Amino acid sequence: MNLFVDSQRLQRQIDDLAAISEAPAPVVTRVLFSEADQRGRHFVTDLCRAARLTVREDAVGNLFARWDGQEPGLAAVATGSHIDAIPNAGRYDGVVGVLGAIEAMRSLQQAGFHPKRSIELIIFTAEEPTRFGIGCLGSRLLSGALSLEKAAALRDREGRDLEHWRSEAGLGGTDLKSVRLESGAYAGFVELHIEQGPLLEQENLPIGVVEKIAAPSTLRLQLTGVGGHAGAVLMPERHDALLAGAEIALAVEQAALATGSPDTVGTTGVFRIEPGAVNSVPCRAWLEVDVRDTRLETRDEALRRIEESARQSCARRGIGLEMELLNADAPALCDSALVQEVVQAATELGLPVKRMISRAYHDSLFMAQVCPTTMIFIPCRGGVSQRPDEYSSPEQIEQGVKVLARVLEQLAG
Ligand SMILES: [Zn+2]
Repeated sequence: MNLFVDSQRLQRQIDDLAAISEAPAPVVTRVLFSEADQRGRHFVTDLCRAARLTVREDAVGNLFARWDGQEPGLAAVATGSHIDAIPNAGRYDGVVGVLGAIEAMRSLQQAGFHPKRSIELIIFTAEEPTRFGIGCLGSRLLSGALSLEKAAALRDREGRDLEHWRSEAGLGGTDLKSVRLESGAYAGFVELHIEQGPLLEQENLPIGVVEKIAAPSTLRLQLTGVGGHAGAVLMPERHDALLAGAEIALAVEQAALATGSPDTVGTTGVFRIEPGAVNSVPCRAWLEVDVRDTRLETRDEALRRIEESARQSCARRGIGLEMELLNADAPALCDSALVQEVVQAATELGLPVKRMISRAYHDSLFMAQVCPTTMIFIPCRGGVSQRPDEYSSPEQIEQGVKVLARVLEQLAG
């Protein structure tokens, strides 16, 4: 089947969606259920309807856009990604896998393809952890990896919970319990995504296929010291929350280096203090630490070291410490038959493929718990992601969309 992907139309849609942002261009910011996120959802929903897909929304805001197959009793084939964006992000992360999937389906429709299995695009709620400190909220609930009790306990910085945001988003009165997928709901899931790393570009390869997804974990720490006037409280009397936090941030770096594996990475991405005045001793600090690895053992070893260092620093400095492990997920293995489908689709299109590890967090990690899963990567310039200068060319995106379309054709045909 000869597929035509309208890469100009797709690029226009990517640019139009990027303009829907909480911050001025070129920055893209769309935090879960913010006004910009809501407008982004409407934008995508309209595109799905224009492509004659049937759209529904579940109780946590996951969107499903379905192209009905000729045998609707068969498990559907799923694809998808996310459109939420962390503060100060770019326009391609997640978006390529959503708008690209719509374009893939349009190209199949245009070629006269009639799927036997239904094809469903999933736009996952809050892949990014900005609001609640936990990523992949939608896919965790779909897969059952997050319990309803834990979901109910989530709070944002202002102390507002998921219920609050669900009713803001017009989902009040719906039952979160209904989000979880029934077993066998999908025959397979394939996510198209930018690599967010430099390897494809360095090796001048157009397509990556993901065999493993690294195991991420998030640790939240709250440090309570004693504040006071920067002039009046003498050094021996200090219980400075920032200084304990600074030691912990350095311990995160040490713990990641100490495993000896280049696959272990540790980051203190959030570090806030109170009261945040130049003449005041910091009385409180909040840190959020991300540790990930392709091996569960080394990841957990790094976490253990960080927790131990945090306890020591805080004890020595007389600082109160609360630690919460927000998540510590296991790595995912992708489905080898699906990986082979991607390799074959790309090869038939004359595109060389690299087998890869995904070091970033994706909804695929949780979909892999529910059905056979893999990911298609395309290069991004300099490996840069989650910055306004994130970039993949229209040609690179088109190649990814073509591979996705072929895979969907094979799986649904
Ligand atoms: Zn993403």
